[in-house]
Amino acid sequence: MSEVAEKVVVITGASSGLGEATAKMLAQKGAKLVLGARREERLQQLVDDITSDGGEAIYKAVDVTKRDEVEALANAALEKFGRIDVLVNNAGLMPLAPLDELKVDEWDQMIDVNIKGVMYGVGAVLPTMRKQESGHIINLSSVAGHVVFPGATVYCATKFAVKAISEGIRQESNGQIRSTNISPGAVATELTDHISHKDSKEMADDLYNDAIDSDSIARAITFAIEQPGEVDVNEMVIRPTKQE
Ligand code: NDP
Repeated sequence: MSEVAEKVVVITGASSGLGEATAKMLAQKGAKLVLGARREERLQQLVDDITSDGGEAIYKAVDVTKRDEVEALANAALEKFGRIDVLVNNAGLMPLAPLDELKVDEWDQMIDVNIKGVMYGVGAVLPTMRKQESGHIINLSSVAGHVVFPGATVYCATKFAVKAISEGIRQESNGQIRSTNISPGAVATELTDHISHKDSKEMADDLYNDAIDSDSIARAITFAIEQPGEVDVNEMVIRPTKQE
């Protein structure tokens, strides 16, 4: 039996892109899914698609910048399925712009969603995983969590932070909790739709000409989950072959 089957997997940012693709792939392998994001109608559609294909999934509307809502997402998983095997901390934003544009509201949003949202996720599942004496936290960092690009300072800072959080979880796991840091390059999703700075949007559209599809990352996440319990895949960088 696949190591994915029957696992209870909570995914944030499941309403589009990588989160949605991962939910579909894991559902096909028999995981029990708990899906969170703000756009409920998208989540409802995804749950309908998964269940009509014979999979098992529920959703809960969540804004990951609100700690009580992230805890409610974890509680929904416990109420429905009685445990949490995997958290995929995937919700994220990338409104790129040079620092001189002083888009301070967007800096705040990125820090709130990409760092604080990830930590709220960790906080919401950690006590349960300690009780279970097992669990797996998968964080979405980025190639931008390894290298800084001009116009992406704050985004890179948040993704460097995610990489640090993943490594910290690993070091504090007490042999109980697996930690996987996933660093995608350009993947065709809605991520660049929210770039308000014109030149940065053009730069991103150019880079994303060679973007790979969301299933490429869903496969990486699935690979990490389906390893036997004693195997902890800590770090994966997946980018388009053509990306510099
Ligand atoms: P999308 O924009 O398609 O998806 C982002 C998801 O995050 C959506 O489901 C969105 O749902 C959710 N989200 C955003 N803000 C919040 C919030 N406050 N609370 C809850 N959910 C929120 O982009 P991707 O699928 O590409 O992004 C997924 C992750 O992958 C991000 O962390 C991103 O940084 C990372 N990544 C993506 C790369 C790419 O090239 N696509 C490259 C490297 C990393 P909703 O709006 O419904 O709340």
